[in-house]
Amino acid sequence: MQQAEFCPIVDLTRCLTDLLFDAQQLPAEGKVADYIPALSEVSPTRLGIAVATLDGKVCAAGDSQMPFSIQSLSKTFALTMAMQLQGDELWQRVRMEPSGQPFNSIVQLEWEQGIPRNPVINAGAIVVADVLASHYSASKNTFLMFIRRLAQCQQIYIDPKVYASEQQHGSRNAALAYLMKSFGNIQSEVPQVLEQYFHQCSVEMSCEQLARSWLYLANRGVDPVSNEQICSRKDAHRINAILSTSGMYDQSGEFAFTVGLPAKSGVGGGIVAVVPNYGVIAAWSPRLNKFGNSNLAMYLIRRLAEQLGLSVY
Ligand code: GLN
Repeated sequence: MQQAEFCPIVDLTRCLTDLLFDAQQLPAEGKVADYIPALSEVSPTRLGIAVATLDGKVCAAGDSQMPFSIQSLSKTFALTMAMQLQGDELWQRVRMEPSGQPFNSIVQLEWEQGIPRNPVINAGAIVVADVLASHYSASKNTFLMFIRRLAQCQQIYIDPKVYASEQQHGSRNAALAYLMKSFGNIQSEVPQVLEQYFHQCSVEMSCEQLARSWLYLANRGVDPVSNEQICSRKDAHRINAILSTSGMYDQSGEFAFTVGLPAKSGVGGGIVAVVPNYGVIAAWSPRLNKFGNSNLAMYLIRRLAEQLGLSVY
């Protein structure tokens, strides 16, 4: 790969360490997610970054091995599974357009007859969770096993405190699910679908595990280390397209404009960006901006993409 040759591993590690230092000098802006108590307890100064390249190497700096709540980053894993299970039928139930609304918005869903704009806002991810819950008898476990296989690591778990908190404070997600059920777009019982969705959001992973586990998206659906076909080339293309247009919620346009990589954020403060034919960048800092995206994780990915010339555009 051209970029990999431009930046050998020692230089890349130094580059990540320097970027982290720069990020630490910036004024502390944004707020740790507090919609559930379990997330608000995370230290706001945590900061980590990891880059996994297609040759299987991982470079990292800061809190890159510390597990954190992946939250909406889980939407990408679940989507990969659901696309395989439902094929093109999935796109009758969820569209592939940016929403122009906050990730947990409900207004559009009523106007658009219970068909969510895309699978990476909450409503769309709940449809995806329904696909998994309706198809597998042990869908929560199947989901976790899928992630462990991608990360090549069995030590990935859900945080039971976050899971309980999600359940307890999940009224808005429940409202989205019941509204879609009323339009006939949810097949399983709503409590079962929500259980699946909250379980997915409650998984904990580190930047290094995340970067490693998304490599198939940078390599046309094939895990470059195990050589396993994780999804078809067409699905990898489609997932990257959705991440490019909707993965950073209402800031997806700005992210494409300034960074130029398919990426997904989560309210745990993680952002994962795919660099096709090169690798994956995962960054974590818990302070979020008003769109629910991590300020410093965005900063780190933008600076790295600029320095290495990684934009896909
Ligand atoms: N658990 C969160 C929710 O459902 C996930 C949202 C996110 O990470 N953007 O609201």
